[in-house]
Amino acid sequence: MVQQASSLFPTYARFPITLVKGEGSRLWDDQGKEYIDLMAGLAVTNLGHAPEVVKEKLVAQLDQLWHVSNLFHIPNQEKLAKLLTDNSCADAVFFCSTGAEANEAAIKLARRYSQKVLGENRYEIITFHQSFHGRTLATLTATGQEKVQEGFHPLPEGFVYADYNDLASVEKLISERTCAVMLEMVQAEGGVIPADPDFVKALAELCKERGLLLIVDEIQTGMGRTGKLFAYEHYGIEPDIFTLAKGLGSGFPIGAMLGNAKVAPAFSAGSHGSTFGGTPIATAAAIATVEYMLNEKIPQRAAELGEWTVKTLREKLADNPLVEAVRGEGLLIGIVCKQPAAELIAEIHEAGVLVVSAGPQVVRLLPSLVIPKEDLQKGLDVVCDVLARK
Ligand code: PLP
Repeated sequence: MVQQASSLFPTYARFPITLVKGEGSRLWDDQGKEYIDLMAGLAVTNLGHAPEVVKEKLVAQLDQLWHVSNLFHIPNQEKLAKLLTDNSCADAVFFCSTGAEANEAAIKLARRYSQKVLGENRYEIITFHQSFHGRTLATLTATGQEKVQEGFHPLPEGFVYADYNDLASVEKLISERTCAVMLEMVQAEGGVIPADPDFVKALAELCKERGLLLIVDEIQTGMGRTGKLFAYEHYGIEPDIFTLAKGLGSGFPIGAMLGNAKVAPAFSAGSHGSTFGGTPIATAAAIATVEYMLNEKIPQRAAELGEWTVKTLREKLADNPLVEAVRGEGLLIGIVCKQPAAELIAEIHEAGVLVVSAGPQVVRLLPSLVIPKEDLQKGLDVVCDVLARK
């Protein structure tokens, strides 16, 4: 393909592929080349590309009503909020359009709860090294990676970073300023690093003891990806606040910040908002997504298929000197390599399978949760063949 001069800001190091059509777990480029999709738009198309159940609801809603201001009641929002709260530890939902926006809402809610409900001047949030929480000023500051923050100083005050899976390092950072601890159940962008169950349990206890809110970022791990509807369910804990986006609308932009009854009263009319948050169309896509996931037990399928995938990869890659480990939860899987992942990924793409990196040395697999097992098997064969050739 001839690359033309682009009028876009160069914010993405794009792969040299132009995708023009998607169906299920297959994608086609502008040259007609077919790919097996093992990255699902970065954990967005969890039900595959153009899933019929979501399309039907979207088309019906397009005929009815696209957008109204949040100054009016929106029945789809109520329905989606009820579906989410009935199936989680949350009692209230705020809708927005992206993951960063959902995390911004979580950060604001935690501060406002501390300052308005508790009446204390607490604002600091403990997050973790290698975490990823978004690209807005507050969420890139919450993100524990200097490269994400470079050139954007001064950063907002109120974020400190602990070592992941290390309770003592969290304890050391708690002060009279601390209002919350925020983490991912699997550090996805940071290299597919699952949280240690003992650490998460102890952290939840510590938060209770010290009166801190526990915020879980489920932007990438939520919506069935790890084998439960929400990844915190694996750990037997209930966060005060958690956030969703990516897979919630199957590709239609929608995010959500969910909180329990304790934190819900901290927001009141005018304390937060978003023009596009929870439009009739976005919520139609999300209702169809959540209903299908629950009715068809999609998280359970992700758990089973994920276990099979990790086992298959470990067997096939056991003697590969390039590979250090295969790890993950459900269908969020990382192949940890001993060399930079970028070159390997380019070859895997060339061979007709789409995967993505997580950190510099991890090849990340995020297939759709409904991918036919034969497609997944074919995709894994290609990945392992490329790794074997190196
Ligand atoms: N949080 C996590 C864990 C993510 O993986 C991402 C995106 O990759 C975000 C937040 C930011 O989401 P968005 O790009 O929709 O703002």
